[in-house]
Amino acid sequence: MELKGETAVITGAASGIGRAVAISLAKRGCNVALVDLNPAGLEETASQLFPYNIQATLHVADIGDAQAIAALPDAIMTRHGRVDWLVNNAGVALGGQFEDISSENFEWLFNINFWGVVRMTRAFLPMLRAAPAARIVNLSSIFGIIAPPEQSAYVASKFAVRGFSQSLRHELANTKISVTVVHPGGVATSIADNARGPAHRTDDEIAQGRIEMKRLLTMPPAQAGEIIVIAALARKGRVMVGSDATFAAFVERLFPVSYWSKLQRLRGR
Ligand code: NAD
Repeated sequence: MELKGETAVITGAASGIGRAVAISLAKRGCNVALVDLNPAGLEETASQLFPYNIQATLHVADIGDAQAIAALPDAIMTRHGRVDWLVNNAGVALGGQFEDISSENFEWLFNINFWGVVRMTRAFLPMLRAAPAARIVNLSSIFGIIAPPEQSAYVASKFAVRGFSQSLRHELANTKISVTVVHPGGVATSIADNARGPAHRTDDEIAQGRIEMKRLLTMPPAQAGEIIVIAALARKGRVMVGSDATFAAFVERLFPVSYWSKLQRLRGR
C-alpha cells in the first residue's frame, strides 16, 4: 500500500504494457485514471483492477488529438483531485521501407508516439508540480537506442521520446518530479496486431509481417509492468526491460556505428 492515496494517469491502458502498469500500481494502492481509444479494453482493465479496492476512472481519448488531451486534466482532476504519476505509454507501430510509408502514416505515428507524450506532459506538469512527489514515466523502446531498417518512423519517434525525457529529467532535477524513460525489448502485447505498414502490401504479407514481429515479443506484460513500476519507484532515469534490450543496448554502446551488422551476425548464429 506504499502508493495509497496517489493517482496515476496512464495512457494506452486498455492493453499490454499500459494495463500491466495499471495493475502493478493498483496492487500498491495507487488510484488510476486510465486513458485509451479503446473503451472495451479500458473496461477489461478496470475489471482486472477490481480486487485492489482502488479508484479507477476510464477516459476514452485519442492521444493523437491535441484537443482531446486538453480536456483530460479537468476530467481527471474532477474525479481524483490530484495527479502524482504520468505514464506516457500509448504507442503504435509502423513497419516497411521508408519510401513505401506514406507521409500520412508517418505523421499518424508521430502524433501518437511523440506528440502525445509532449502534449500530455505539458497538460499535466502543473498538477505534477503541485503533488508532494511526482513521477513521469515515458515509454521509449530498445528502438530508441538501436535503429533497425524498415522502422524509420517508429525509431525516430522513440529516439525523440528518449531525448525529450532526458532533457526534461535534467530540467526537473531540482524538483520533486522524477523522469524515467523505459526501453523495452520484445513484450508479448497486441502491438503487432495494431501495426500499420505500406499501402501496397497484400493481406497475406501483412499477416506474415505480424507473425515475424510477434516472434520477437516474448516477455509477459505483467513482468514488464513490474519492472517499470519498480524502476520508477526508485526514480531511475532509465530502465531496460528484458535481456534482449540490455544486450542490444550493450552492443550499440560498444559499436555505435556498426552495431546493426554485428547484431545480425550474432542472431544468425
Ligand atoms: P498494445 O498495442 O498492446 O497497447 C497500446 C495501447 O495504446 C492500446 O490499448 C491502444 O488502444 C492504445 N492506443 C493506441 N493509439 C492510441 C491513441 N491514439 N490514443 C489513445 N490510446 C491509444 O502495445 P504495447 O506493447 O503495450 O505498447 C505500449 C508502449 O510500449 C508503446 O509505446 C510501445 O511503443 C512500447 N513498446 C512496446 C514493446 C513491445 O514489445 N510490446 C517494445 C518496446 C516499446
